[in-house]
Amino acid sequence: MKIRVGHLYPDYLNIYADRGNIAVFLSRARARGHELDVHAIGMGDTVPAGEIDLFYVGGGQDREQELVAHDLAAKSGPLRDAVEHGAAFLAVCGGYQLLGRFYRDVAGTELPGIGLLPVHTFAGERRMIGDVLLETELGPIAGFENHAGRTYLDEGAEPLGRVVSGFGNDGRSGYEGCRLLRAIGTYLHGPLLPRNPQLADWLLQEAIAHRTGGEAPQFEPLADELEAQALAVAAERARSRGGKF
Ligand code: GLN
Repeated sequence: MKIRVGHLYPDYLNIYADRGNIAVFLSRARARGHELDVHAIGMGDTVPAGEIDLFYVGGGQDREQELVAHDLAAKSGPLRDAVEHGAAFLAVCGGYQLLGRFYRDVAGTELPGIGLLPVHTFAGERRMIGDVLLETELGPIAGFENHAGRTYLDEGAEPLGRVVSGFGNDGRSGYEGCRLLRAIGTYLHGPLLPRNPQLADWLLQEAIAHRTGGEAPQFEPLADELEAQALAVAAERARSRGGKF
């Protein structure tokens, strides 16, 4: 099966090796006999309606977010439509913030979001930096966060997980990320997926369900020894020093 991926602004939103997440999608899809067809969707590009099974957007400094925010907001219709019709979506940090209603950045500029996720974000004075460990429906997830933004979820909105160690969405609520249908937003960099392969598999399975219009397949597990060691190291780091200013 050919899974079609839409990588939003790969040349603007890509910090902390976020691009590495695409490499994980590629290798884990191939390990199950599937191919990935990655399309870059950048400034002025149209979003091919109904054709993309999995969207991805990385993180970026306020400056990069300011450069893409209005172009991304102009794509909000087809992107929200795609997710409402079953496309999967992974958005990291600055990309996550722009999937909400708005991000008011450190300079006080209010950047429009696409209003896909029921969240909004205000930049605070102190950056929230460090290792993070979450408890989620998909098991423990660990990564690295570095953000000024404090993201607030609407009443009843679903977070990605509970913060075991780290700051998470706002350093107070005890939750991290946000989920809606097959879309996931998170502050976790690293890149995220090499040490959290179950999340990559979940998104790929949901992307295949979009492609076939049927149920999400259950992939055969892979060995993942190195991945498990990387997760254990990241989780230990988070427990020992996550969530401290
Ligand atoms: N610029 C945003 C913030 O500081 C996002 C940062 C990021 O993507 N790491 O909160």
